[in-house]
Amino acid sequence: MRKPKIVILGAGYGGLLTTVRLQKMMGFNEAEIVLVNKNNYHYETTWLHEASAGTLHHDKVRYDIHHVLDSSKVHFIQDTVMEINKDEKKVILEKGEVEYDYLVIALGGEPETFGIKGLKEYALGITNVNSARQIREHIEYQFAVYQMEEEKNDNRLSIVVGGAGFTGIEFLGELTQRIPKLCQEYDIDQQKVRIICVEAAPTALPGFDPELVNYAVSQLQRRGVEFLIGTAIKEATPEGILVAKGDEEPWEIKASTVVWAAGVRGNSIIEKSGIEAMRGRVKVQPDLRVPGFEDVFVIGDCSLIINEENNRPFPPTAQIAMQQGEVTARNIIALIRNMPQLETFKFDSKGTICSLGDDDAIGVVFGKKLTGMAASIMKKAVDNRALFMIGGTSLVLKKGKFNLF
Ligand code: FAD
Ligand code: NAD
Repeated sequence: MRKPKIVILGAGYGGLLTTVRLQKMMGFNEAEIVLVNKNNYHYETTWLHEASAGTLHHDKVRYDIHHVLDSSKVHFIQDTVMEINKDEKKVILEKGEVEYDYLVIALGGEPETFGIKGLKEYALGITNVNSARQIREHIEYQFAVYQMEEEKNDNRLSIVVGGAGFTGIEFLGELTQRIPKLCQEYDIDQQKVRIICVEAAPTALPGFDPELVNYAVSQLQRRGVEFLIGTAIKEATPEGILVAKGDEEPWEIKASTVVWAAGVRGNSIIEKSGIEAMRGRVKVQPDLRVPGFEDVFVIGDCSLIINEENNRPFPPTAQIAMQQGEVTARNIIALIRNMPQLETFKFDSKGTICSLGDDDAIGVVFGKKLTGMAASIMKKAVDNRALFMIGGTSLVLKKGKFNLF
């Protein structure tokens, strides 16, 4: 008898966790498991702000996918997904195609630019290993050129971060640690460097605990970050950005580096494949399947689940993606084993921690507020836990963060 074929798209938090759970729970002859990913490595998206600032080498934030796969149970295809044909139950890849009986879409998110002019051309995004490497190199190049040029262009030393959400704040935390080192390396007076964060909402980290937000903002200000709160980026240009408060006339901030960290959307493959979505995020059923498609699951940043407590979507996080991966693996097994009922996904929030560099952070963990070193240690423990859940102790020993103090 032909084995049912499970195809998982994306080896990020959601997809890789689904895969390793399936490989553990399923017998050799129960199903054919195929994992498709663009690269032969997994990267910790939650560590990309460190690689982007240059405080952590990009090789430290990624590992070979084969390290966590059992090749006797999972077939890995390194390829790029171009489109999903739900009616013919096949996935079109750049170099071929793959058919499925059960599909898990876990392709992650993309930067949301809200159609703002010039962002795609002139701003950089903290999105994957390649973009992180580009940001790090770009900033360093500006410092190197500044030192070489006869007529100094101070704008080379200005860095704009668009958005003071969690990504923006975590990146700023790393930047404030990296810049003093770069200044030393390139013999540049640190007073000449400007780090400007532009946030459209009336506060940084909108919706987060105000006391913790104040702590984060004042720590970053103390380290030299300028905040423009209640101010939106309206356009990116080759020279910098145009910003405005409300309906006021926009004004220009000149900067050679603009990093856009002001929002994410689901993967555009979703819309390209004709799957109903809001900004690339599919409102999934409680069992994580796509309404009307009993064999297609969507998890992670491509999925949308409403938090019944406030009737708003849960923010897309690695925490939710991993919990969805666990449930998806169990639900696929239930379908294959003809079990009567599928599990309903219920998000169990463990809290949120936002790093502010290597030894500082803010967070709420199990309802308790944390700041400083205690929060930072907790953040590294959470980072290590994600490694453990996918690759066990050996992966933690290989890639874990042990510089706790
Ligand atoms: P991802 O983990 O992004 O994985 C998607 C995978 O799909 C990648 O391997 C990618 O290469 C692959 N892929 C994409 N397109 C294709 C294609 N066309 N073909 C083949 N493969 C493809 N969340 C938290 O809970 N805690 C945190 O501390 C935290 N920190 C963050 C810090 C930063 C800087 C950022 C940017 C995000 C952070 N998040 C955090 C959010 C979290 O990273 C995401 O919600 C999470 O990564 C989503 O998981 P995912 O499985 O949906 O996608
Ligand atoms: P976000 O949507 O959470 O924040 C984006 C910020 O940009 C918002 O504060 C928004 O007001 C602002 N903004 C939007 N348009 C703007 C404009 N034109 N000009 C200036 N500011 C503008 O996005 P994010 O920070 O990238 O986070 C994405 C997801 O990843 C979220 O779900 C977040 O919770 C998660 N994340 C979590 C962590 C963590 O837990 N430590 C870290 C990073 C990201």
